[in-house]
Amino acid sequence: MSESMIGLLMLLGIALVVSLLCHALIRRPGLAVVTAGCTTTALFNLAAYLHAGFLDPFFPIAVFVAGLYGCIVAWFVGIPFRIHRRRQKTREDSSSCRNCGYNLTGNISGICPECGRAIEPS
Ligand SMILES: [Zn+2]
Repeated sequence: MSESMIGLLMLLGIALVVSLLCHALIRRPGLAVVTAGCTTTALFNLAAYLHAGFLDPFFPIAVFVAGLYGCIVAWFVGIPFRIHRRRQKTREDSSSCRNCGYNLTGNISGICPECGRAIEPS
């Protein structure tokens, strides 16, 4: 495996781990993506510097590319987090079933027609 291939895999690994952490800790998706992008850039370029022992002449380009790459990876990693939080919000909404998220507007039976759970009065 070539040196550049190892570098790309390392960048992907850093981006994935940082993205997961940012999305788990930061509730705002946009902020999580930008934070993950910046953190990925900093960590990757630090690792590249420590590995090579000097700053690459194309250092600013490396910062830009790693940042962009980190943001793109973070955006994709954020998809399941955004879906999960949207479902959570729907469930917290009083007009929806707390168990399955089914819309209970106008329901008078007191039982969710989707999952059969008794509706808790809010
Ligand atoms: Zn239900």
